[in-house]
Amino acid sequence: MSRQTPAFEPTEHPHRRYNPLMDEWVLVSPHRTKRPWQGQVEKLPPEVRPAYDPTCYLCPGNERAGGVRNPEYTSTFVFENDFAALLPDGPRGELDAGSFFHTQAETGVCRVICFSPRHDLTLGEMEQAEIRQVVDVWCEQVVELGSRPEIAYVQLFENRGAMMGASNPHPHGQLWSNYRVPQIPAVEDRQQAAYFAVHGRPLLVDYLAAEVEAGARLVVENASWVALVPFWAVWPFETLVLPRRHVVQMPDLTADERDDILAIINAAARPISRAATSPATIRGGITIEEIGGTIDATCASVSFGSWIATNERTNDPRITIVSGVVAFCSSSTREMVAPATAKRHA
Ligand SMILES: [Zn+2]
Repeated sequence: MSRQTPAFEPTEHPHRRYNPLMDEWVLVSPHRTKRPWQGQVEKLPPEVRPAYDPTCYLCPGNERAGGVRNPEYTSTFVFENDFAALLPDGPRGELDAGSFFHTQAETGVCRVICFSPRHDLTLGEMEQAEIRQVVDVWCEQVVELGSRPEIAYVQLFENRGAMMGASNPHPHGQLWSNYRVPQIPAVEDRQQAAYFAVHGRPLLVDYLAAEVEAGARLVVENASWVALVPFWAVWPFETLVLPRRHVVQMPDLTADERDDILAIINAAARPISRAATSPATIRGGITIEEIGGTIDATCASVSFGSWIATNERTNDPRITIVSGVVAFCSSSTREMVAPATAKRHA
């Protein structure tokens, strides 16, 4: 009796998926979700935190490393990172161009954005008006830094939990801005420009339309935004949030879109927060690209995900996790992260 090869079924058989934003293939192995999980499981940290912590370097009025004292701030507070990864006044230069040891000096501005004076809150627990203030500050920062000739790219993000390198539980995010567009957004820029040149429409606008029609990977929607699991997802709980209309730059968001953005992220994140044993593994960013003459090619988006898979999560039938990779998920799950924005260096 001859053995028949079964028909290719993506929910059963290993396969590759194409990521048009990065022009790369990702490996998906759905059968591996059947293996038992004996790896690390993160525990929730103790939940009790005071509204004010005298030892916290982000709380109002407290002294930071280096001796600077925070003002008695009452809403959102932005300051230059005391341990900045990039420095604004560094030298420019290049060494060993064309060799195996090619190096370019890089400059930029790194800031910390405290979302609230309250030590015990998260963005998801703040009042709508307070959250809106944070979104407005994000937009203001993008406008201010994006207008500088020496800044090509601005990213806003939030790491949660010690495992992700968050050094303080006070609700805060970070802003990194660079002289050059970093590798991943630079590739995404190129890909979107190439798509626009062929189709005359932004890649992410067409992609959203296709996902809405398919329906299988939609997580949650509201009047302004749609949250979905990208077809090419590689992070556990990876989520992409796209605006319903074509928005190029974060500061172009309307009042309603600004009000709705955190609502969609929190709605998408809630099931994850419940399923996850740790909220500690969240990272992401709004990526809003602007490319020289082809600005229409790009589209505002927010992305976030987790780096850690746990047995609780893999037991959720809506989720397919493979070696720390979410292949797809028909509904819910995602964690909150931060926003970012980008402007190509002229
Ligand atoms: Zn604090």
